[in-house]
Amino acid sequence: PIGIRGCYDESKRFGEAMTMAYYRTHDLDTHILRIFNTYGSRMRPGDGRVIPAFFMQALQDAPITVFGDGSQTRSFQYINDLIRGILLLMESDEHLPVNIGNSTESTVLELAGAVIELTGSSSKIVNRPLPPDDPKIRRPDITKAREILGWEPRVGLQEGLRLTVDWFKSQVADGNGV
Ligand code: UDP
Repeated sequence: PIGIRGCYDESKRFGEAMTMAYYRTHDLDTHILRIFNTYGSRMRPGDGRVIPAFFMQALQDAPITVFGDGSQTRSFQYINDLIRGILLLMESDEHLPVNIGNSTESTVLELAGAVIELTGSSSKIVNRPLPPDDPKIRRPDITKAREILGWEPRVGLQEGLRLTVDWFKSQVADGNGV
């Protein structure tokens, strides 16, 4: 509770505790979906997350800021897959938590390379200090979503990035660059 991301961690735990209390005590039809790293059009260009950061940097030929050595992994889910998962879970009888995310891992360095290639950028990668508490691996176990909802991701990283690049181009054109 007192870690550097304590407010964030505890808010998630509290949210799930409250939801189960409403389910059990007030008989509400609740569902708990654990969202893993998601991206797509309409993200705020300066929200600090890695995909907006890399796209905005690449499209402006600015240095790509890789934190640490870039060997940490994330599993990036395209927004349409998440929304399909939300709708399926809402219509299901499952009331306990279900992970919805993409289980294919990429390193941050691989992501940087993919963004540079897709945008045709002349940006160079620069390394910056790794933030405290930055997980080395983050990958959802989506077995439950597969079994209960028949859900699994359909959009891979390369395709999802292709579907997203125009949004960030429009942000650069509108002068929202960061
Ligand atoms: N990251 C990075 N450069 C950036 C922003 C983020 O290398 O400009 C890294 C960050 O250290 C983390 C990964 O990208 O290892 C994903 O970060 P994000 O904040 O998007 O998601 P989270 O850490 O919450 O999974």
